[in-house]
Amino acid sequence: MYRSVERRDNNYYPRRKKQKRLQRKIIGFCLFTFLLGYLCGRVVLAAEHIFMEPDWKTIAGASAGELPDASAKEQDLYGWNEAQGAGNSGKDEWGDGPGTMFSGDYGQDEAWNLRLVNFENPLPEDFTVELTEVGEGHQVDSRIAQALLDMIAAGKRDGYQIWIASSYRTMQKQTSLFENKVANLKREGYSETEARREAGTVVAVPGTSEHQLGLAVDLVSSEYTGLDERQEQTRSYQWLVKHCAEYGFILRYPNGKTGVTGIIYEPWHFRYVGKEAAAEIMEQGICLEEYLEQRS
Ligand SMILES: [Zn+2]
Repeated sequence: MYRSVERRDNNYYPRRKKQKRLQRKIIGFCLFTFLLGYLCGRVVLAAEHIFMEPDWKTIAGASAGELPDASAKEQDLYGWNEAQGAGNSGKDEWGDGPGTMFSGDYGQDEAWNLRLVNFENPLPEDFTVELTEVGEGHQVDSRIAQALLDMIAAGKRDGYQIWIASSYRTMQKQTSLFENKVANLKREGYSETEARREAGTVVAVPGTSEHQLGLAVDLVSSEYTGLDERQEQTRSYQWLVKHCAEYGFILRYPNGKTGVTGIIYEPWHFRYVGKEAAAEIMEQGICLEEYLEQRS
């Protein structure tokens, strides 16, 4: 009885069997496509880790200094003190060249505006700086706020809309960006050690980001907000490179200087050093490390 029913099914409903086979094929194809897409995504992510710059960021038009994602590419941080705003003394005029000397607390006998922060020269954990809001939730060292605003305003007068994509970051923020990156890499299969090393090439190790100083900003064109080398093709970038020194800023990580700075070419990261140093650095096409070396 059962058998006859079964046979009848086979005989009478061959179309249903075909449909089932077709369904299975479609499901299989979908699964395969999904897997393929996933694998491609992984490959792209891995490539990004290798090629993206350490500092990156985000978008300028986004609100208030929010990094778009934790994977975030940029890093600043040590701002744990931002709310309290204590810090270096006086407000020097931004325009008058090398500024006042550090009080000596930081063990670096250099003018505040020429302070070097990089992997070999991390900031102390107790570093503090007085901050001033410069719009859209961005803050910088109070001593450079006016210079930065003046530069952006001048660009605007000349017809260029320049946006701040990243500015001062607290230590907490930098630490959180860095740890997020490490966690992501570990999920991708990196060991703890490998993940930390790799993360350091994409997000500055807490304490070593120049953004923590409050003297660096990432500036992008309203026409193109990506933090990649195409930024150099924007008219805003070209205006900035031509005029930044007039406001005391330099292009901090120029093309071809990675061997000295340890940071990839970043045609968006500008650093305040004061007018005098900025003029020399931009004129000679050197980086801050080389300038400081020349002076010593
Ligand atoms: Zn930057």
